[in-house]
Amino acid sequence: MINFKETLKTKIFQTVLEVSSRLGFETYVIGGYVRDLILERPSKDIDFVTIGSGIELAQHVAHQLNPKIKVNFFKNFGTAQFKYNGIDLEFIGARKESYNRDSRKPLVESGTIEDDQNRRDFTINALAISLNKHNFGELIDPFGGLKHIDEQLIKTPLNPDITFDDDPLRMMRAIRFAAQLNFTIDAETLEAITRKSDRIKIVSEERIIDELNKIVLSKKPSIGFKLLDKTGLLQKILPELSNLKGVESKNGIGHKDNFYHTLAVLDQIAPNTNDLWLRWAALLHDIAKPQTKKFIEGQGWTFHGHNFVGTKMIPRIFKRLKLPLNEKMKFVQKMVNLHMRPIVLSEEIVTDSAVRRLLFEAGDDIDHLMTLCEADITSKNEVKVKTFLENFQLVRQKLKEIEEKDAIRNFQPPVRGEEIMEVYDLMPSKEVGIIKDAIKEAILEGEIHNNYEEAFGFMLKYAEQLGLKRVK
Ligand code: ATP
Repeated sequence: MINFKETLKTKIFQTVLEVSSRLGFETYVIGGYVRDLILERPSKDIDFVTIGSGIELAQHVAHQLNPKIKVNFFKNFGTAQFKYNGIDLEFIGARKESYNRDSRKPLVESGTIEDDQNRRDFTINALAISLNKHNFGELIDPFGGLKHIDEQLIKTPLNPDITFDDDPLRMMRAIRFAAQLNFTIDAETLEAITRKSDRIKIVSEERIIDELNKIVLSKKPSIGFKLLDKTGLLQKILPELSNLKGVESKNGIGHKDNFYHTLAVLDQIAPNTNDLWLRWAALLHDIAKPQTKKFIEGQGWTFHGHNFVGTKMIPRIFKRLKLPLNEKMKFVQKMVNLHMRPIVLSEEIVTDSAVRRLLFEAGDDIDHLMTLCEADITSKNEVKVKTFLENFQLVRQKLKEIEEKDAIRNFQPPVRGEEIMEVYDLMPSKEVGIIKDAIKEAILEGEIHNNYEEAFGFMLKYAEQLGLKRVK
């Protein structure tokens, strides 16, 4: 029998052991913490289940650890929670659950530790360790969770059809764990997800997106997205992505499968960024390819404007998925809109003015944009990949040189509109905009440097050509 006595020597577990025994309760540490302990993954949440009152246990444990700790509790659910040294501790009375068809909310009654393990979603999440004197540290593993951790397997403890019918969020959780842990979903469990995928409609978008974001942030997100696709869930939650699937061929010319390309881009960007929004940009960068696809004689398959159309599709997708409609979304839109610019630049002779224009449009997000573009190269042709990456190095170097010279990244017009109005005695008008624009263009084209003196001199000459008289 595996025993965790030595691992549970820390103050938290020793306190729970002592307090629980004093109260005459039977208590276990359960769920994700036990799983992660065995997997040697760091964990900041510990769940305790007790045959007794979770709230009472939490209050006594908190008091003993530090009388100043404030315990949050929910009487209706019989749960209590507090933080100790940055660790989130949750206490709950062991329960037995039963479900009705229209809701994820179960009917709850108190139960035994077996009942509580029965209601857990996967065998690897149903493991418990005893915090009781007579068998302290012993692993309680009724469903072979330990073996499944060893086999890297995700499997429901009970009949998977019932498990997923009861709470369809578990389908997303299964796939999320598969992606996060790089585990396989047991064949029967996977078939049940496919059969029950339609039940996802009773789950709120907020819970779905929580899981989807965890998939996006996993080490190899394609594992999760391929499973979402295979089980039919993707078509229900993000049909725009599943619509990227497929290859068409005309006159013997095919195009790449944009679904698998997108997943390859997401996997390639993963080691270079943990920024959720940059990863979303990778996921959505080609989202409008089906809408913009055309076969043109002599050119083959084209997707003109897919960046622009994609940018327009994003608010609808974000709104539906309950993703934020704020500057995070704007950032994703900007990345999608600009995602082809560096590659076009690197294919041509890299001129200073083209680099300046890119810097002007991308601003402070230029580094993220370059990261996205590098990940976008998924060709199997090694020579081609090498050439692209070398060209990108060149673009990066030019970006650096030009930024040092001209500070375009956070471009502010060097001559302000008010000054133009004063010098030419103008009201706010079209002319002011035209002059400001001409100054900006001259800087981007490299005719003048980005400084006040040169910009002012340029303005004088330009306004004269427009026939404006200087009054100041
Ligand atoms: P993570 O911390 O990575 O999200 P976790 O397994 O700790 O993983 P939690 O959501 O904190 O996830 O859940 C804690 C435990 O509660 C799980 O390990 C599992 O035993 C149980 N659990 C959570 N959600 C469900 C669910 N929808 N159905 C059944 N059991 C669940």
